[in-house]
Amino acid sequence: MQLQASRFESLGDAFHTRLPPTPLPSPHWVGWSAEAAALLGLAPELPQDEALLQRLSGNQVPDELLPLASVYSGHQFGHWAGQLGDGRALLLGDRVGPQGRHEVQLKGAGRTPYSRGGDGRAVLRSSIREFLCSEAMHALGIPTTRALCVTGSPAPVRRETVETAAVVTRVAPSFIRFGHFEHFSHGGRHAELRRLADFVIDHFYPDCRAADGNPYAALLAAVTRRSAELVAQWQAVGFCHGVLNTDNMSILGLTLDYGPFQFLDGFDPGHVCNHSDQTGRYAYSRQPNIVYWNLFCLGQALLPLLDDTQQALDALEPYKTLFPTALQRRMNDKLGLAELREGDDLLTEDLLQLLGRERVDYTIFWRRLSLAQAASADYAGRAELSDPSRTAQPPGPAWQPVRDLFLQPDGFDGWWTRWQQRLATDADADADSSADPAGRLGQVDQVGSRMLRANPRVVLRNHLGEVAIRQAQAGDLGALQRLQAALARPYDEIPGSEDLAGFPPDWAATISISCSS
Ligand code: AMP
Ligand code: MG
Ligand code: MG
Repeated sequence: MQLQASRFESLGDAFHTRLPPTPLPSPHWVGWSAEAAALLGLAPELPQDEALLQRLSGNQVPDELLPLASVYSGHQFGHWAGQLGDGRALLLGDRVGPQGRHEVQLKGAGRTPYSRGGDGRAVLRSSIREFLCSEAMHALGIPTTRALCVTGSPAPVRRETVETAAVVTRVAPSFIRFGHFEHFSHGGRHAELRRLADFVIDHFYPDCRAADGNPYAALLAAVTRRSAELVAQWQAVGFCHGVLNTDNMSILGLTLDYGPFQFLDGFDPGHVCNHSDQTGRYAYSRQPNIVYWNLFCLGQALLPLLDDTQQALDALEPYKTLFPTALQRRMNDKLGLAELREGDDLLTEDLLQLLGRERVDYTIFWRRLSLAQAASADYAGRAELSDPSRTAQPPGPAWQPVRDLFLQPDGFDGWWTRWQQRLATDADADADSSADPAGRLGQVDQVGSRMLRANPRVVLRNHLGEVAIRQAQAGDLGALQRLQAALARPYDEIPGSEDLAGFPPDWAATISISCSS
């Protein structure tokens, strides 16, 4: 794999330390992503390439391309944590592939000057989780850092118990975090702060330079927009990040740092996936506010480059409408609604209330709703539309699998009627514009198939990852590969993978995921 010196390196010595990885004994391949390989212009199949295996495990480094660890700081759990940095990540270099330029990074390749008390290693368990989830998020259409592969080693690593070491090869256009900006700003190093901001604008936000006014304010506004879009996608799919510290916030609006993340099983807005998060700061429902808080940290860090404080506030303010609008757009996609209308937020909120009251399985609910809509468009939709008075009707047999998710389905029945009436107004609008009754009925049929493309059948639930991890720890990669294949096509009905789309087993509730990785 040909790599070039990273552009990040050109920022200068204040930003990083160059050092070799720590060799990892007897590495073997654990996972390989064909999709990430394509991004880099590599062959899709797992390479039979011993040199590459050694290199991506940190055992071979070309002399002219010494890797680097970058320095950053950050707010952790709401408190200024001071200097942090890549404690176990090393940037190997850049790869220019068919989809542009990407940084290639090893995570778990040994201690760096920023490791503090850590050992610089990552365990197989957390490496598999990061690998699977990075690629699953991408397949779901959610911006994320990517993962090319995982290599494992028998080398022991001590966490709560003794586990084995692994290295994830991560890929992203840039791994720059909010914390990089905070680092130079809080240190009063404004020349470096400006250099960093210029770097990010030049390579990733060129429009900010073109815009009138202060380019750094434009950058803050652009990052605010991307972050609002990102967290809206997390909320819609039921993803809890788990450690939304500012050092885990990507300046590109990517999902970054897969630690104790979790996809919701039963819908619980207050769910806290990180065992170490005792106050629930990063609970699912708090993520949008936390991201906003983190954006304020970025704004504060950028103040030395702005005309005044008001400029930062003006760049941040739009989040208050951008996020709810982005979220409602995503929820409308899930509901099969073509456009945003007044009252859609209430329709959505009332549904989430119903789901939360009975802790209804979030992913299964949406999938069954989509399947029922697709199956019933033939009769329910047509009957409804052909009757101009469109009286409310209770759900027919196609909806039974959805009703079965509720102990008390009356609430759902009532909501269903409102939803169907709302769907009909989309069809009406369509009919008004086309004056084509056939087109109008076609529109109804499409609702179900649109919903099936917005509501995934398989997400990386904790217990699915756990099964794959346990087998991989025992030397069997079958479950990992099967899960990876299903996660790569999350919206497809793949026969024979029903177990991956089902309810979590009882033991799933006992899985405890902490920051330890
Ligand atoms: P995280 O909570 O994963 O965002 O990690 C916070 C900081 O700790 C980051 O700067 C990591 O690089 C560092 N870190 C986490 N685990 C280790 C480890 N095992 N060895 C060295 N540094 C680590
Ligand atoms: Mg981190
Ligand atoms: Mg981490």
